Amino acid sequence: MAMDNKNIRVRFAPSPTGALHIGNTRTALFNWLFIKNYGGKFILRIEDTDKERSKPEFEKDIIDGLKWLGLDYDEGPDISGNYGPYRQSERTDIYKNYLKKLFDENKAYYCFCTKEELEAERQAMMSRGLAPKYSGKCRNLSKEESENKIQKGDKGVIRFKVLNKEVEFNDLIRGKIKFDANLFGDIVIAKNLKEPLYNFVVAIDDHEMKISHIIRGEDHLSNTPKQVLIQEAFDFNVPKYIHLPLILTTERKKLSKRYLDVSLKDYKNDGYLPEAMLNFIALLGWHPKEDREILSREELMKEFDIKRIQKSGAAFDINKLDWLNSQYIKKMDTNELIEKIKNFIPDNWNKNDNLLAEAISLEKERIKKLTDFKELADFFFELPEYNFEILIWKNVGNEKIKNNLKILLGEIGKIQNNEFSKENFEKNIMPLAKTFGVGELLWPLRAALSGKKASPGPFEIMEVIGKAESLKRIDIAIKKL
Ligand code: GLU
Repeated sequence: MAMDNKNIRVRFAPSPTGALHIGNTRTALFNWLFIKNYGGKFILRIEDTDKERSKPEFEKDIIDGLKWLGLDYDEGPDISGNYGPYRQSERTDIYKNYLKKLFDENKAYYCFCTKEELEAERQAMMSRGLAPKYSGKCRNLSKEESENKIQKGDKGVIRFKVLNKEVEFNDLIRGKIKFDANLFGDIVIAKNLKEPLYNFVVAIDDHEMKISHIIRGEDHLSNTPKQVLIQEAFDFNVPKYIHLPLILTTERKKLSKRYLDVSLKDYKNDGYLPEAMLNFIALLGWHPKEDREILSREELMKEFDIKRIQKSGAAFDINKLDWLNSQYIKKMDTNELIEKIKNFIPDNWNKNDNLLAEAISLEKERIKKLTDFKELADFFFELPEYNFEILIWKNVGNEKIKNNLKILLGEIGKIQNNEFSKENFEKNIMPLAKTFGVGELLWPLRAALSGKKASPGPFEIMEVIGKAESLKRIDIAIKKL
């Protein structure tokens, strides 16, 4: 798409009323990819007008999450820029001036209707089969009347006079979108001059910060016409819009809170890698040309093309995330993986670097998340606890298994410490296994060593844990039978 990238400015505008989760991370990522691909600047704006629900710790969580994924921004509350402040709570004076301007131009008014009056009005409209909206009753109050009420301490709100017209805007994915503004009624844009509300402040900030493209979730689609009406009232340029598809389940149903509310930090703590998260989230509503699944950050930056953003819901498939994560783990340099896994294991596993490195290279293929290692590989570091039943191969009897383990104990005992290697087990134990039956001999051996139904092979484990430990475990298994 040909664009004058000098003027491209996009923003991620989260409300710090909760942690960063997959939905708003996707918005951040698509904004970031947009400028990485088309050029321009990426702005982080903190929308903290809701004083009660906004918390500094959520702002921190959002910034930490963006950092973890490497979604760097050019302007923001923690790095400043030419269009700040970047927290809405610090922009009250700017909004106040604009609100005054609306009053001066007779485009806004104070409304003193009580909750009860509004509710009665709603009910009356609905009983007449009409879609409820504010009647505009307070539009007729004179300036003096409203000022008197305010002086007296009456609590009012500020409403914007919505013109009876069709609002139109351009969505780069969905095309021209029209709304009948008449259905809105006069919208509340502020509680008072010091407490403006979402649709108003967004329109002001997007203008003041010279935002050229607004990329955000489809859940905001119904807010857009309201913001466009405000932009028009001030004669602002209307930015271009891109509404990202809803995130749904694989059955195209609404995603449950179980997934929607999971914070990005929870994924991090579960052992997902940032590169896998980035890859997974980029595919929530977008896909590259050849429908590849694995895309690095650089590939995403190069290939992101807004024409390939879909209109229909994006399927959230946690199995796909697990698969992607396992692919990145497999590809990762083992030393790097060791460093990462160190954060997810008990301290005493960290004592022996060699053992840890060997256990990780043996388990690398099986690890889906960094947290898996702790469950998969505990037997390398501590004696496994298990029930004797897992020693049994198919329907071979206990006595036979016990006997096989005794034979193994003898044979393995004969191998010298300095020859205790996989190659030698292949030479010495394998022929035995062929005589007694591979499954009958090696399954109980593997189970005795690992205490698990699934694990790396017995020869690999013995090589890592050494002779004394191997013999000890075989002995324990014999006693269990
Ligand atoms: N603050 C809004 C939210 O977190 C987003 C506003 C916008 O992108 O226009 O949902």
